[in-house]
Amino acid sequence: MSRLLIEGGTLLGLTTPADVAPDTDLYAEGGRIRATGQEASRLAAEAERDGARVERIEAPGDWVLPGFVQAHLHLCQTLLRNGPEGLELLPWLHQHVWPGEAAHDAGTMSISARLGIAESLSAGVVAVLDMGTVRHSDALFEAAAAAGIRYVGGNVLMDDPETTPPALRAPVEEGLAETERLHSKWHGRENGRLSVAVQPRFAISCTDRLLRAAAELARDRALVLHTHASENRAECALVERRTGMRNLAYLDSVGLLSHRTCVAHAVHTDDRDFRLLAERGTAVAHCPGSNLKLASGVCPVPELRGAGVRVALGSDGAACNNLLDPFREMRLAALLPRAREGAGSLSSFDVLRMATWDGAAALRLDGPEGFVPGARADFVVLDPEGGWSLPHDWSGEPYGAIVFSMGRESVAATIVDGVVRYRREDPSVGGLKPAAAEIHQAVERMRVRML
Ligand SMILES: [Zn+2]
Repeated sequence: MSRLLIEGGTLLGLTTPADVAPDTDLYAEGGRIRATGQEASRLAAEAERDGARVERIEAPGDWVLPGFVQAHLHLCQTLLRNGPEGLELLPWLHQHVWPGEAAHDAGTMSISARLGIAESLSAGVVAVLDMGTVRHSDALFEAAAAAGIRYVGGNVLMDDPETTPPALRAPVEEGLAETERLHSKWHGRENGRLSVAVQPRFAISCTDRLLRAAAELARDRALVLHTHASENRAECALVERRTGMRNLAYLDSVGLLSHRTCVAHAVHTDDRDFRLLAERGTAVAHCPGSNLKLASGVCPVPELRGAGVRVALGSDGAACNNLLDPFREMRLAALLPRAREGAGSLSSFDVLRMATWDGAAALRLDGPEGFVPGARADFVVLDPEGGWSLPHDWSGEPYGAIVFSMGRESVAATIVDGVVRYRREDPSVGGLKPAAAEIHQAVERMRVRML
């Protein structure tokens, strides 16, 4: 059983802006918080007296936060980073991403996943909602298990013969059988860190029958359902042409929207969509960097939140960002609403909640919010003096400094399930990050298959 003592940090629980505990120890056992304050150091000393090993982090001067949750990601696309520029969603998928995904073998998939997870852990990410591709999904779970990150994901479902390439198409029964196989092999493994999600790619890549069957599987097994929706105007227009319905209304009509659903993007949405998502309890993964890079538009985050929709943050895949860095997404998420709605439209505290607790809820991670006994021991330790964020005391609160002037260089450690999975002193992330030569060779293997 893992045991961890974080000594002397400032605990920022992010339950309310006032949830700040300076110079406070924290003790976790078996991946859950046991105690904070004097009780924490007492329990750690007691465990050590009994011969148990307690991992320690000395954190005086550091800020300890709930770890960042990446609510929309494609680890299979990390090796497709820095592809063609100047394309919108549909041509970008057809010209680069789908041929690239089809060119993977299990080995290149593994390198793609390791690279993306290492990048994520070193930026304070503790949990990901990851949409894989049609095949080689075991490599994703294997990489996540070895890295110790919390992983919700698996294979993607796509079967529409009119819109998808043959190499990336799986008939309804085949795609769902693969999700079921992954479920029986991986779901709940690694102390509960691995979970399978049901993932139809988006409305236009799936037949009506596949969408209905995916919704049924997610409902029967109580799994997270993850899909893209209303990212791009051409995508929305195609759905309307095919179904006569607005995109989200159509997804609802086939049973896809529920409290276990997380929809990526929701850029081209209006009042009717806000109400629908709020009524269904469906979460939105806001991906501002990806939406700007693919010229998709800007998600109406204040309106969604105002209607009662839970909005989390994602970077999307490295192919359309081109980074996996929650600090960049937080900065964009905080700034974009100001262009339309003024300086007070979304606070730094709210953005941090989107990047942490709202993400955890979107991934259906269990446990209470805050640094309380029983909460998941998933943390990021930030060093407010090591980067370029000093001074940070003018405003009387730490949140603006984190969102606007910190970055991945400020991450001193990332802890998942009560175990330190990244320390700044080790940029290889415990050997997880593939060597440059390994990355180049993998890309060459993929390139040959894409020609
Ligand atoms: Zn995506």
